[in-house]
Parts: sequence; structure tokens; C-alpha cells
Amino acid sequence: MCITSLSEKFGIFNFTCDVCGRELFTGARLCDACRAALPRARCICPLCGRSVGEEGVCPECKERRNACEKCRSAFLHEGDAARLVRRYKDGARYLAATLAGEMLPLLPAFADAEALVPIPMTARAVRRRGFDHGRLLAETLSGLCGLPVLAAAVKQRETAPQKTLSRRERERNLEGCFHIVRRAEVRGKTLLIADDTMTTGATVHELASALLRAKAKKVYAVTFTSVAYRDVFGLPPAETLRRPLP
Ligand SMILES: [Zn+2]
Ligand SMILES: [Zn+2]
Repeated sequence: MCITSLSEKFGIFNFTCDVCGRELFTGARLCDACRAALPRARCICPLCGRSVGEEGVCPECKERRNACEKCRSAFLHEGDAARLVRRYKDGARYLAATLAGEMLPLLPAFADAEALVPIPMTARAVRRRGFDHGRLLAETLSGLCGLPVLAAAVKQRETAPQKTLSRRERERNLEGCFHIVRRAEVRGKTLLIADDTMTTGATVHELASALLRAKAKKVYAVTFTSVAYRDVFGLPPAETLRRPLP
């Protein structure tokens, strides 16, 4: 059996960096240089984990708490980190191990979590993409951290892309789209939603709300990347004021 097929079969050999393609013989999925260059937030909101301009709770979380008690992301959704997510969702399934491997160091922040919950897709969306990227990522992370995967929810209908919608439209777009199917296992549990990216946080909020309505004790979220606060919501008012006038 050749090395490539062994690698595909067992996922244990990885001879090239997933970013630059340089040969690696350490079993790591990213070379040291590429890993060090992935964009990290310097300052984060203690609740949503998003990159913010100054210390403290971000204006979005101040206005209305996300149903997720705490969210953390490994990287900013920029540059090579964003490109890894794109390639993964476009079908490079082997990158699930890379993404999950970088999310693993965040897990101690959720020491009381009892299960990982993927964000579900509709059956149609899974057919279109060819695989359920959220489920695969949660299962891969589960293999690394030992927490079981609890596919607690199904997505009942397609929702419009969130990007161009206002906050109110986003919430209306998602309202009631998740249905909790494993209620007995959700009740009383502390759950950790695992996903590739947090953009507006509305999806995580909607799923966490559904889990809490089904009597989950607490819900957290962990993602590979999250979009910086100012790239989603613009500059918070305080930062706008402090900018010198043109
Ligand atoms: Zn590299
Ligand atoms: Zn926040």
C-alpha cells in the first residue's frame, strides 16, 4: 500500500503543511511558520470571544447577551485561517483534523462541558455540499478531546445567507429553524457547540436558545475562527469617537 493511501485511510501520516505545502516529517498538520502566522486576536470580548479594539464586554454582548454563555475561537477569520475554512467547506475533508487540532487547546476553558453539539444542516444542504462539515468537525474534535458528540438538533428549513442581513433580519431568518430531537439527553447538560466559524453569532445564539428551551443547563461555543467585531458590526461608537476627525 502506498504512503498516500495509508495516510488517507488512517489519517496519521501528514507530510505536507496544509497551508504552504512544505514537507513535514513531524506528523504536524501545519509547519511552525504557518501556524505562528495564523491571525490571532490580541484582545477579545470575555463573552463572545470576538476580537475587539479594547478590553471589556463588546457593545453587541452588552446590548443583548448571546444565549451562549461563553464563546472562544482559535483564530480570526482572516488570511490563511479563513482560507483553511473555505477549503474545508469546499470539500477538503482531511482539514477537519487540522481545524479540530487547533480548537483543542481551547477546550480547558469549557472544563464542565459534557458533550459537543454540531450545528445541523438541512438534508438538502448536506447533499449540495457532499458532506456535513459541522458534524465531521465535531466528530473529529470528539476524537481528540474525548467528549461525546450529541447531535441534539435538526435544521428544519433552509435559511437565507446571513451576511447581507441586518441584525433583526438575521434573527427573523433563523427563528425556529432548529428543532431539538434528543431532549432527554439535553436536559440538565452543559453543552459545547462546535463549529468552523462564528460570523454574526446569530446561528450559535439560535441553537443555544433552542437547547436552553429544551432545558440544557448551560451552552458554550467553540469555533476555529471568528470574524472580528468591527468586520461584523462596524466600529463601536466609542472607537468611532476616539478616531481623529478627517
Ligand atoms: Zn507551512
Ligand atoms: Zn461580545
